[in-house]
Amino acid sequence: MLYKNKRELNAGVKKWKKLLRLQDWTFTAALTPNRDINGHIAMCSVSIPRKHSFLHIGSTEKDQAVAKQCHEASLIHEMLHCHFESFRPDDEEAPLEYEMWEQAIDQLSVAFRDLAAQSRK
Ligand SMILES: [Zn+2]
Repeated sequence: MLYKNKRELNAGVKKWKKLLRLQDWTFTAALTPNRDINGHIAMCSVSIPRKHSFLHIGSTEKDQAVAKQCHEASLIHEMLHCHFESFRPDDEEAPLEYEMWEQAIDQLSVAFRDLAAQSRK
């Protein structure tokens, strides 16, 4: 699924905030050109004390990575970071642990997306 505009993105945030049990968090979400997020598919910043996260979902459709991208899985991935931020390994001191931490979040995001799609059928 690709979110075509901010309204669709915000509807996704509202849906996944409830499903991921993040109702006590606030989110500011934007469709952001991938060049503005260092070429990443998506990005977030998380403030645990404020229980707030900025979510950037890559929007540049010409980008090959984005062509294969599922905005919903990216959104879920970035929102899951709120739950896992306290356990984030330092990516320079522990690159393997950091990569495995990212992969676990990524696998969970795809699993949640697929489970939600199945429950709609
Ligand atoms: Zn991540």
